[in-house]
Amino acid sequence: MTKLRAKIVLEGELKIITGLHVGSAAAGMQIGSVDSPVVRDPITNRPYIPGSSLKGKLRSLLEAAEGAEPNRSGGSGTFRHECDDRSKALECPVCRLFGSTGSRGGENHPARLAVSDLLLTDDSIEELKLIDTGLMYTEWKFENTLDRVTSAAMPRQIERVPAGSVFSFRLVYDDREDVEKLAEDMKNLAAAMSLLEDDALGGHGSRGYGRVGFTNLRRSHRPVEMYGTGEEFPNEDIGSVADLAREYESAER
Ligand SMILES: [Zn+2]
Repeated sequence: MTKLRAKIVLEGELKIITGLHVGSAAAGMQIGSVDSPVVRDPITNRPYIPGSSLKGKLRSLLEAAEGAEPNRSGGSGTFRHECDDRSKALECPVCRLFGSTGSRGGENHPARLAVSDLLLTDDSIEELKLIDTGLMYTEWKFENTLDRVTSAAMPRQIERVPAGSVFSFRLVYDDREDVEKLAEDMKNLAAAMSLLEDDALGGHGSRGYGRVGFTNLRRSHRPVEMYGTGEEFPNEDIGSVADLAREYESAER
């Protein structure tokens, strides 16, 4: 096991610029509801964005930017990239940051980046409580989709988190001693976040859903020696994704 040098915590807000649909696995199982519901917290019933959704999207954008070889089935006819062995993964910008599972007999390489579930901010919850769409905190929209088998048009109600909603995000990067790639990884992360702002999160991106923007970025560099001392961790305001990228400008990409 390689020594952990520090944790870099990046926090901030993800602003929903156009209606966001992050679908629930329970789609179609809810009675008396929309055809395609969003994922919700079962206790509070508030919509949230699973960390795995944001992480998967950032990964696929970095894969595209790096031209990483798509060598794994991602389901539904899609392919994704994963390095087979640990030494390759450590030199691979995608697998170092986002991990590789070691499927097909390869070695598992844990991700250096962890992405928490994104929750609605308190201000957004208050605002969304006031909207009257018949759904809690969300809106719905009719879309004509094609039945994959019969090609018949199927009007479906798609549930969305409305434009203007704001979620808080938290990304934690493990700075490890084995390969010193902090600056390069941060630069790649900033690039993926920046690409996402010109792409879409969640479903129906080609219909204009899921445009998002990162704001109010803060960074806390936490050397491992600080843990357990009771000292307060430092916290710096960074601003935008472009500001984050500039912080690591000199790093290679
Ligand atoms: Zn790789």
